[in-house]
Amino acid sequence: MIDLRSDTVTKPTDAMRQAMASAEVGDDVYGEDPTIRRLEQLAAEMTGKEAALFVTSGTQGNLVAIAAQVKPGEEVIAEAESHIFYYEAAGVATVAGAQIRQVVGTRGVLQPQAVGRAVRPNDIHQPRTALVSIENTHNRAGGTVTPENVLREIQTVAHAAGAKVHMDGARLFNAAVATNTSAKDIADAVDTVQFCLSKGLGAPVGSIVAGSQSFIDDARQWRKRLGGGLRQAGILAAAGILALTQMVDRLAEDHANAQTLALLLANMTGISVDLATVQTNIVIADVAGTGRPVDEFVLRLREEGVLASAFGAAAVRFVTHKDVSKDDVLRAADIVARVAAGR
Ligand SMILES: *Cc1c(COP(=O)(O)O)cnc(C)c1O
Repeated sequence: MIDLRSDTVTKPTDAMRQAMASAEVGDDVYGEDPTIRRLEQLAAEMTGKEAALFVTSGTQGNLVAIAAQVKPGEEVIAEAESHIFYYEAAGVATVAGAQIRQVVGTRGVLQPQAVGRAVRPNDIHQPRTALVSIENTHNRAGGTVTPENVLREIQTVAHAAGAKVHMDGARLFNAAVATNTSAKDIADAVDTVQFCLSKGLGAPVGSIVAGSQSFIDDARQWRKRLGGGLRQAGILAAAGILALTQMVDRLAEDHANAQTLALLLANMTGISVDLATVQTNIVIADVAGTGRPVDEFVLRLREEGVLASAFGAAAVRFVTHKDVSKDDVLRAADIVARVAAGR
């Protein structure tokens, strides 16, 4: 099977498994796990923030970051198709007690003027705008990157309104590699950031939240409240350290493979791809023109040995990652062509 459903399917490398087996550990809720501490310090350095916190998942990371920065009854501005709105089980509403204000972006990129228009006036009837959350790269838009100047303009607008800026950077390092910058440069334009160790970077479990020390102190308490205080978690952090030290640069391969796949798909009859959105490791292909319902399309691909995700009513999502090679991608494209042609 060529598994292109998501980069979450990546398996830990042999080096990660060895590092996990021999990791030095302690009780992290007591602050005594040396490997967790090393990972958090490394993550803080790589994002240029004062402090960082290991969390169980990207969802938990976004939730503790948002809960630490908004009060019940306040509002979070986010792109209309953002992960925190679509895929996080309404955690912002149920746990943080805040509501999400959806603002439509351009190919997933929030526009500073639109953010400015969505900021609430000082009015007893309206919720206070406490936070802007930016998704970079943007999953549902096809892995698009928010340019650094746009991040900075949004931060200026948010700060002028007394709001903070959080980045859902589940794929922060994909954004950094695609734009030839560093995670640090990108994170410098936001107040707090979450990124996943478990997607393209290949770690089995975990995400990082980073920001100021006082923010991380609050986020740590939120993590505890949510049952995310782990004990000998250095076993997981050992893999996370290798994710950050060995797995970042190779993301460029995934991006090249996504480009290859996108160009092949875009040339197939009945399939269209907005190539402008293919900036990192995600390819969203509209298959409506093949006349096949998307669920049937995905089922046929599976029968032929390719796993992909149905994405809305007409699209199929393919995600490249370290466990699919260029040859796999070429073979997958052949299979898509056959299925699209009804053969
Ligand atoms: C995957 C993802 C998350 C959540 O990560 P999990 O570890 O699956 O909880 C958050 N935001 C975006 C944009 C993602 O793609």
